[in-house]
Amino acid sequence: MDTNTFAPEASQDAKALRVNGARLWQSLMDLAQIGGTAKGGVCRLALTDLDRQGRDLFSQWAREAGCTLRVDAIGNIFARRAGEDDSLPPVMTGSHIDTQPTGGKFDGNYGVLAGIEVLRTLNDAGIRTRAPLEVAVWTNEEGSRFVPVMMGSGVFVGAFTLEHALKAEDHEGTSVRDALRQIGYAGEAGAAHPVGAYFEAHIEQGPVLENNRKVIGVVQAALGQRWYDVTVQGMEAHAGPTPMELRKDALLAASELVREVNRIALERKPHARGTVGSMEVFPNSRNVIPGSVKFSVDLRAPDDEQLGGMDAAIRAACARVAQASGLKIGIEQVVYFPPQPFTPALVEAVRANAADLGYSAMDCVSGAGHDAVYVARVAPAAMIFVPCADGISHNEIEDAEPGHLEAGCNVLLRAMLASAGVAA
Ligand SMILES: [Zn+2]
Repeated sequence: MDTNTFAPEASQDAKALRVNGARLWQSLMDLAQIGGTAKGGVCRLALTDLDRQGRDLFSQWAREAGCTLRVDAIGNIFARRAGEDDSLPPVMTGSHIDTQPTGGKFDGNYGVLAGIEVLRTLNDAGIRTRAPLEVAVWTNEEGSRFVPVMMGSGVFVGAFTLEHALKAEDHEGTSVRDALRQIGYAGEAGAAHPVGAYFEAHIEQGPVLENNRKVIGVVQAALGQRWYDVTVQGMEAHAGPTPMELRKDALLAASELVREVNRIALERKPHARGTVGSMEVFPNSRNVIPGSVKFSVDLRAPDDEQLGGMDAAIRAACARVAQASGLKIGIEQVVYFPPQPFTPALVEAVRANAADLGYSAMDCVSGAGHDAVYVARVAPAAMIFVPCADGISHNEIEDAEPGHLEAGCNVLLRAMLASAGVAA
């Protein structure tokens, strides 16, 4: 790829090309019928019969768009539109169609159906690309029924083994291996195929674009994450007879650390995040001074230097509070996801094409995990964000504007064409 936008000599037909926003919207609404909830959301857990129905509908649409389909051993579906030179690695887009139990119509589904809309648009215009195009449906991105999350893309890039993923079980003891067989999506084993470039369109799932009144988010990187379990050991005692200065209140020490977590992130604006989202207080009784507290810490930052600084800061804070309170505080890291920068040339293609199309845009980071974050480990990759109403996602009321979804899809079309090249 040597141009980010179309060179002047590139086909004027291709440059004038726009996706059909109404058709994209209709496909989103049609897919949302499968597992649709009374509150207007979607409950379509990975590898259930509803997931099968969604996959079948995608497959039907992809075949109608002239694609050949391939399913791999973890159930990822790759719909391929031939290029002029099929020896070239495909330019790929995609996302996931599994949802949270109280999920929405757009998370993941948008990225998959935006890919279908790109193919339909090229078919209507009779445009052939030099490299083949592919739309991927990644298995179990949400991690709601089976852990680990981002399972299909994780296996694809070798973040963990196929065997590890196939062995994962849901609460009923059904394995991924059995669930894939039950729905007929246990495909062929084999090495992952090379990817020339990967673009993923996704709703932002946060409030930044909406707050800044921007339509396109040019995603620079996905935040790295460090998750910890922290335990504070004090001494439970009667809330009445025990004077304030003689207490070993574990919750008081824990609250100081909650403030520290927030301070550590606030000192690293604008992209660092620090969250205490879960806390267990023992014995959790109104007239007992808390004897022990266990809580989670979730730290995120766009690069390892910053994330490492946050790691050092939270460990120092634990030591400081332990010293000052005389309580025992333990901190253990339980998860580490490295920060993942996206590929500068592809990020630039998103930015340049958004500008060329006249859409307002801003640089942003992805605070959440996405399939693109894994794919970026093995191929050039970038993401295109569009706003969602009030930044709300993983919720049945998740909503997005048709015009914004259309805009993101137009940027996707342009970026994919620029990477794949237009056949003469
Ligand atoms: Zn998603």
